[in-house]
Amino acid sequence: MKKDTQLISAGRDKKFTGAAVNPALVRASTVVFESVAEMHAAGKMKDQGVEYYGRRGTSTTFAFCEAMCELERAAGCYVYPCGTAAITSSLLAFLSAGDHLLMVDSVYEPTRDFCSGSLARLGVDVSFYDPLIGLDLETFIKPNTKVIFMESPGSLTMEVQDVVAIAKLAQKHNVVTMIDNTYATPINFQPLTHGVDICIHSATKYISGHSDVMLGVASANEACWPQLQKRSYELGQCASVDDIYTAMRGLRTLGVRMREHDRNAMLVAEYLSQHDLIERVLHPAFETCDGHAFFKRDFVGGNGLFSVVLKVANIDAMIAMLDGFRYFKMGFSWGGFESLALPVDSSVSRRTIRPWDNSKMLRLHIGLENPDDLIDDLRLGFERYALCLNQNPNIN
Ligand SMILES: *Cc1c(COP(=O)(O)O)cnc(C)c1O
Repeated sequence: MKKDTQLISAGRDKKFTGAAVNPALVRASTVVFESVAEMHAAGKMKDQGVEYYGRRGTSTTFAFCEAMCELERAAGCYVYPCGTAAITSSLLAFLSAGDHLLMVDSVYEPTRDFCSGSLARLGVDVSFYDPLIGLDLETFIKPNTKVIFMESPGSLTMEVQDVVAIAKLAQKHNVVTMIDNTYATPINFQPLTHGVDICIHSATKYISGHSDVMLGVASANEACWPQLQKRSYELGQCASVDDIYTAMRGLRTLGVRMREHDRNAMLVAEYLSQHDLIERVLHPAFETCDGHAFFKRDFVGGNGLFSVVLKVANIDAMIAMLDGFRYFKMGFSWGGFESLALPVDSSVSRRTIRPWDNSKMLRLHIGLENPDDLIDDLRLGFERYALCLNQNPNIN
């Protein structure tokens, strides 16, 4: 079955939908049983998608999980109240005091903060590695290395990793691999089919797609699923069925939205790549982006997210540009239908392996507006930038 067809049919078994097109929205804390035998039978199946207690999910949760498992080719999937909870719970599920974690240096900042904060406090040894290291990562694997964490492309700087090589390496050393696959969504890259053990999404982004839900998902292969499920449950993780229902609605249109975001972003990125004020376009489909070859090898397509590096840093010019945009609003998330522009904060300069100068960086999310309007908005923005530079040539 092709992905587009799968997006429409996944999780729509009659047992979830009844006569309706969509799964029923079942809100519950308490599930009630009519007999002791029925209660015991449900108890035996409570980890296999039978309603037992609200925190374990209702049929709405199970429908979404079934859909995600089908899309990711996973043995099981757990839903969390946000992407960050999915990341931290997955790491906690597989790391103990004295263990070593290899974490990619280009990781989403809250993941990094969790490593240097809670994981360090709990006695987990964390080493950050170069996103472009590939097979040389082997030299950093220690006897106590338990997890290798990837995020590809990296947050803000967009380095694409050789996930295939790293997964193979990890298997050889019996190390669990996890990936933050939020950029690709379940349709543009399926890490579990390339040997990765656990695949994590912030479903807040494209899966939901409308900037109105926070949700996270982690799916695992046969070997890692029982431990991920057990420990996530112990941590008290659960998500609202209303949010799950909304995310599942988003899933139906994920394919068409992603293609449109991708097409618009390519037009905008091509425009910017020709612009006098732009030094470098950090879009995985462009050769100027680190790891571009792995993007070409592994990904079916891109989306609306990319960054640019300007030639000259100037705070006043950046403010003049950003404050005057008509369509691009400033916002920290992405993956909704709307365009966003974000001056890259100092998080990238705090990286230990590959620090970046954030003062010249802008992260864009290209929405579903007409790209001509977006290009006009950017053109005028860069005119304000240039004007400000001419008036105030001191680089700051
Ligand atoms: C947004 C984001 C997250 C965190 O997701 P939330 O749902 O906001 O907690 C994690 N990883 C990446 C790559 C993200 O962009």
